[in-house]
Amino acid sequence: MVNRLIVCVVMLLMLGAMPAQAQRTVVHCGTLIDPGVSATPMTQRTLIVEGQRVAAVEEGFSTPGATDQVVDLREAYCMPGLIDMHVHLSGESRKGGYIDRFRLSPPVQALKANQYARTTLLAGFTTVRDVGSGEGLSLALRQATASGWITGPRMFVAGNSLSISGGHGDGTNGYREDIVGVPGEAEGIVDGVPSAIRATRIVIKRGADLIKITATGGVLSLQGDGTGAHFKEEEIRAIVETARDHGRKVTAHAHGDEGMQRAVRAGVASIEHGTYMSEATMQLMKERGTYLVPTITAGKSVADSAAIAGYYAPVVTKKALEVGPVMQGTFAKAYRTGVPIAFGTDAGVFRHGRNWKEFVYMTEAGMPPMEAFRTATYNAADLLGQLDNLGTLEAGKLADIVAVPRNPLDDIAVMENVSFVMKDGIVYKMDGAPMVIVPPSR
Ligand SMILES: [Zn+2]
Repeated sequence: MVNRLIVCVVMLLMLGAMPAQAQRTVVHCGTLIDPGVSATPMTQRTLIVEGQRVAAVEEGFSTPGATDQVVDLREAYCMPGLIDMHVHLSGESRKGGYIDRFRLSPPVQALKANQYARTTLLAGFTTVRDVGSGEGLSLALRQATASGWITGPRMFVAGNSLSISGGHGDGTNGYREDIVGVPGEAEGIVDGVPSAIRATRIVIKRGADLIKITATGGVLSLQGDGTGAHFKEEEIRAIVETARDHGRKVTAHAHGDEGMQRAVRAGVASIEHGTYMSEATMQLMKERGTYLVPTITAGKSVADSAAIAGYYAPVVTKKALEVGPVMQGTFAKAYRTGVPIAFGTDAGVFRHGRNWKEFVYMTEAGMPPMEAFRTATYNAADLLGQLDNLGTLEAGKLADIVAVPRNPLDDIAVMENVSFVMKDGIVYKMDGAPMVIVPPSR
């Protein structure tokens, strides 16, 4: 009954047939886990949702008004919508998948991405940062989810990442030059300071919310170098300064320490992966407030996939087996050192919707569950520059709420079973089942 009422409300809201006063939804939470507000769980809280936003958080189970919708989560554990700071919604790894970009047309790729976006939202991730996809797909997905054309998380996107010629983000590595050409700034390839400035301005012109650079070699690209420093420090500084002129932050993919050092010194906001991070780099990041986005799940999954014969090309298999298993240990050390951490998984390198695994790996490495949840809520919103809208459930913030049926502080694996998802005040999942959302006719 409640479900059906909410579907009606959702339809009314989406069709723009909103009554003069925004619909109020009263959410009764048995327990509220909100690490950016309280270091301990809060029992019996009521979240009052008006339109897209939280209007109030009240102690106890408040009595709803006659016209209010009620969501009963009195037996459940509520949290702010989860945020994954490192996904690639444009694709998903599979055995021998290198040929896909030549085999799948852009419309087919877009339809697949629609499915990945839906899976991600229903897993409880109401916001994601997409840190690299070609051909404008992530930009289109951001528009589609924001407009309600498709069901997916709120997206902050990098567009295509920036790389040096032959670097991790150079998509032509390993292919015939007469077919794939020699890419330049328009394809995100940067060589020299003027080139770095131009490439940064091009991705911003296309609509990127942030800039992603590949500061060192990487695992899954068809080149032998997994860890070497790629950009010159002055190139990174030029990118950071250009991005800052436009109010954008820069994040750096990095496995090797020298590339990380250069990126942190040049002023990037975060380091992705951080595999071979030295003690000195950890200290520098702590001093400067540079976030680490650990992606332990990616490390584990590439090592697992590499064990399957023929999954990756031989040059990639070697790197995956070396680099993958190191990430969790580095994360543990960085956390103990006091490096700021923001939750990120690299979903797409493994199956979308399995982002929850990162919580398991973080706690396995010694981070308390409450801290792990903080990295996926408050810290992530801070790194996004979105603390006014996201990261906690407080009056004025966007109504992104998820719930699980058991206490995740006792059993973190329950994060696989997110049973309730609200984004922007709209319910997408109730009692573990996806809701049917009728898209608007815009
Ligand atoms: Zn990635």
